Amino acid sequence: MGNDDPFENMLAQMDRAEAYADVDHGVFERLKYPERTLKVTLPVELESGGVEVFEGYRCQFDSARGPFKGGVRYHPSVTQREVEALAGWMTWKCALVDLPYGGAKGGVICEPKDLTDNDLERLTRRYTEGIRRLIGPETDVPAPDMNTNPQTMAWMMDTYSMYEGYTVPKVVTGKPLEIGGTPGRVAATGRGVSIVTERLFEYLEDDLGDATVAVQGFGNVGSHAARLLDDAGARIVATSDVTGAAYDPDGLDVPTLGAHVDAGGLIEEYTAGDLKGAERTQWDEPEQISNADLLELDVDVLIPAAVEGVITAENADRVRANAIVEAANGPTTVAADEVLSQRDVQIVPDILANAGGVIVSYLEWVQNSQEFSWPLETVNAELERRIGSAFDETIERYDQGDVPDLRTAAYTIALERIARAHEYRGLFP
Ligand code: GLU
Repeated sequence: MGNDDPFENMLAQMDRAEAYADVDHGVFERLKYPERTLKVTLPVELESGGVEVFEGYRCQFDSARGPFKGGVRYHPSVTQREVEALAGWMTWKCALVDLPYGGAKGGVICEPKDLTDNDLERLTRRYTEGIRRLIGPETDVPAPDMNTNPQTMAWMMDTYSMYEGYTVPKVVTGKPLEIGGTPGRVAATGRGVSIVTERLFEYLEDDLGDATVAVQGFGNVGSHAARLLDDAGARIVATSDVTGAAYDPDGLDVPTLGAHVDAGGLIEEYTAGDLKGAERTQWDEPEQISNADLLELDVDVLIPAAVEGVITAENADRVRANAIVEAANGPTTVAADEVLSQRDVQIVPDILANAGGVIVSYLEWVQNSQEFSWPLETVNAELERRIGSAFDETIERYDQGDVPDLRTAAYTIALERIARAHEYRGLFP
């Protein structure tokens, strides 16, 4: 049976780690509840005429280590519980990669494909107005997540700044370069995924040049991870979007596929030979398979880069990858974890694998504080240093031999750091 409640899944991951973490039980129990969640009702006048009422959330999970931090997603399947789970994962992620942040997440229930740019702008501004009492450059700093992007962040920054009466770039990260964004933020999560995949191969003493990789999802995260791993010599044999997956055991032509998707093309068009803004290379003749088939391909590395809960007790037995690098948040259920860890499938957990985005968000926030900007090389080098040392610490914890898997090692480090912060700060009042 799959576990389709991401919050329950997060709690089960915590419970698995409790036995190994040096954390007071009282503090541990407290970390199972978000600090607060604001629910907002968002009436928006659509371009097509008429008012539609949307619902949105901002969950602030824990701030013992610093201001709340986390993205905002627009998706029809957003729920309060999902936003709260994602805010919890942000908390563990920021602690694991040692950023001076707590964790938060926002979400709006909507289908962005059905909304015009004008609709999205109004919805974003209304949502920002709804949560502006909670967010702020030193309190809670939103960023992009699923279906939100630098333009969304620009609207959020502008709306917040209009109320403040001056420009506050630091209130969000993931902004366009022209208004305080940093070079390297858009590719950062995918770059982090690629870095940890390379590190995993070094750890396993395997050659990435011989490796086959399947990437579920070719959005911002999946596409950058696929491009960078392709550049690093790996063979990307499959990738997908909502229309299904393209599979070629000889390897996909990732630059061509990237150009097609950048031009608005879908995977099913790509496999049918109907290419946008790109031309088919002779050797790339992919077949169309389903997203479920992609997860079960016989590959060296599987990179889920789409939604939560795709690797479950139901399909874990059929997953043939030797390693899983979790680019998405929460793609593997705890029941699947147990099956895979018994089979010695190495899983680089989401809170480590996809931390590149929030690391570079932090670097953007620091540059905004300094009113200074760094070149791309500096940003990428700092990203690599930070995610690399979190990877090394996780491996070191795992190699001590008591924890069952990398996720538990990562959780142990993160929970201990957060618990220390709580212990030092104490309870108020
Ligand atoms: N949404 C991204 C994540 O899940 C980035 C969050 C941020 O940059 O604050 O990690």
